[in-house]
Amino acid sequence: MSNADWLDRTRAALWHPCTQMKQLEATPPLPIARGEGPWLIDHDGRRYLDAISSWWVNLFGHAEPRINAAIVDQLSRIEHVILAGCTHAPVVELSERLARLTGLGHAFYGSDGASATEIALKMSFHYWRNAGCPDKTGFVSLKNGYHGETLGALSVTDVALFKDTYAPLLRNSHQAISPDWRLAEPGESAENYALRAAADLEAWLAEQADATAAVIVEPLVQGAAGMAMHHPAYLARLREVCDRHDVHLIADEIAVGFGRTGTLFACEQAAPRVADIADFVCLSKGITGGYLPLSAVLTREEIFAAFYDDRTARGFLHSHSYTGNPLACRAALAVLDIFEQDRVIERNRVKASRFTELLAGVRAHPRVRDFRQTGMIWAFDVADAPAGFATDFHRRALGHGVFIRPIGATVYFMPPYVIDEGEMRLLADTTLALLNTR
Ligand SMILES: *Cc1c(COP(=O)(O)O)cnc(C)c1O
Repeated sequence: MSNADWLDRTRAALWHPCTQMKQLEATPPLPIARGEGPWLIDHDGRRYLDAISSWWVNLFGHAEPRINAAIVDQLSRIEHVILAGCTHAPVVELSERLARLTGLGHAFYGSDGASATEIALKMSFHYWRNAGCPDKTGFVSLKNGYHGETLGALSVTDVALFKDTYAPLLRNSHQAISPDWRLAEPGESAENYALRAAADLEAWLAEQADATAAVIVEPLVQGAAGMAMHHPAYLARLREVCDRHDVHLIADEIAVGFGRTGTLFACEQAAPRVADIADFVCLSKGITGGYLPLSAVLTREEIFAAFYDDRTARGFLHSHSYTGNPLACRAALAVLDIFEQDRVIERNRVKASRFTELLAGVRAHPRVRDFRQTGMIWAFDVADAPAGFATDFHRRALGHGVFIRPIGATVYFMPPYVIDEGEMRLLADTTLALLNTR
């Protein structure tokens, strides 16, 4: 079967995500036959560099031998079992390791990022209810924040294109100003602006804390906003603010966890451990190296203790069918092994500074504004981007063998950590060439 055959069949049989299906007439999807490291290979044998890690999930490339081997080994043991009334080695080991790495514990599992957001919101509300504060029902999130697209997660998301249509179905929540350093006043440092944004949120909590369960944020990088980055001082200050006003802090590390921002977790750039910043941490995306859907929420011992009771209804009676799937947990354990075996965080530091060097020409280009980088995420805005810029840039990049999807006028790179020197050059050279032609 060729690319063309698959295109006809996908249009007829599927409803693609985040897609106006009519636009597939002009911009067909790539029919991918296989993957190899950071490369995607279509049915006609053409190769594309996966510059966005297959929607931010892939860490160590496609078909990574050690993750493959772990999943194959697990297949012959137990592929899945109900996690209510049963337990198994992969889920216990993963929970123990995530607890050691974050300082939070009692991992509760879901399948996708949005389900982790739902779990954290419900747990926070239910904690306050169990603690005798049933009026703490509200949530605060950030302008341009993104936490997923199920109704609860969409209520704390602030991306108009995804949210406005469904507004009548959603709960009200408050959106505080974003600490995004691009919003600083002239002469104001990123750090000072971050502290001003935290003060703004505190002013709101000073009035509303009695009705507020939690603040939810994407630490360091607001991904779907177009890789909006902020100073880590924001997170440390927010911790103090939440303590002063008795409100939970939920760190949504779904996109930024597992090394993406240069530390294993983004919160570690504001304090030694995630537990020093967050009451709840949401993990997904990179957790399985981009192999299988898995998400987890970890929390504090005292929050867990407020549910531990003889009365069933005080427990957290939430569930998903594939909760703690053994294959996904084995993939996640293999990912944590690779972080140790390959000293990934250290090596990424070297790789990141090399790629930033290679992007010097892009950074200095007259069309480029607000070039920014945090760990293994790079982004810039294109000053004179015409309507349809993102689609056009995506299509032209494919002609150079690069798969990239700008967000509006923001071009970003979020490559798998296995990207090598030649591949980084291809990405930088292609971007420069596309900026020079229209
Ligand atoms: C992707 C993402 C989600 C939602 O995860 P899904 O697996 O797509 O449901 C939530 N929060 C953040 C920060 C994300 O980037």
